[in-house]
Amino acid sequence: MMKIPADGIYILFDDSDYEDHPNAIFRKQAFHMNIKVGGVEEMSPEHILAIMDKPDCEHFVWVSKRIGKSEHIHFAWVYSHELQHLLRDISCHKLSIVGHFLNVTYGLIDPKVTRYYIDIPTEFDCDRRAKGIVTEIFGQEKCDRHILNQGQNPDRKDWAERMQDVEPSALFDVERETLDLLCQHKEPFKAQQRYLCKEEGMFCDLDIEEICAKRSLGNAI
Ligand SMILES: [Zn+2]
Repeated sequence: MMKIPADGIYILFDDSDYEDHPNAIFRKQAFHMNIKVGGVEEMSPEHILAIMDKPDCEHFVWVSKRIGKSEHIHFAWVYSHELQHLLRDISCHKLSIVGHFLNVTYGLIDPKVTRYYIDIPTEFDCDRRAKGIVTEIFGQEKCDRHILNQGQNPDRKDWAERMQDVEPSALFDVERETLDLLCQHKEPFKAQQRYLCKEEGMFCDLDIEEICAKRSLGNAI
């Protein structure tokens, strides 16, 4: 289903949740992190830091207790989503960086417009793949019902409406979609990038001008 390389990858199904953790990443339900490129997250629970610090830890996937204990179908969805982030990162790390940047900034560039994480092509791509995996394991009917159930939550209504029409095997050019989004709003994204680099030291190597000039992630980052 998903071919995960045997080396360099650590996956932790945690027996705790950290919903009050000062590091926002641990308040998430799950995440993937490229340790080799991005370095360890110093502000982490100790047993997690010990894993990230291992010399052969290149990628780290973390799944919270509440996802581990959730319905099997929900667990499978969230876990497949994170594994797709991992696989994308291995095949094109630059796309991961731009996806992460859009995740951080897309909601800020025009506060009048409500945006959902599903509007970010790299996130949509992971959910698209997750839908494919969940359908394979549980069948179409259960997958459709799961999406409908998720949509009962007002915060997930738009997500569910979008996901129910997704055909996982249809072609989706995640790189092109990502570049389209980034370059359509080039100037406000550049302003966000300058701010984040100056204030947080984040995304300093992200040259949006060059990426949009080349319309390729080739060597642009
Ligand atoms: Zn994601």
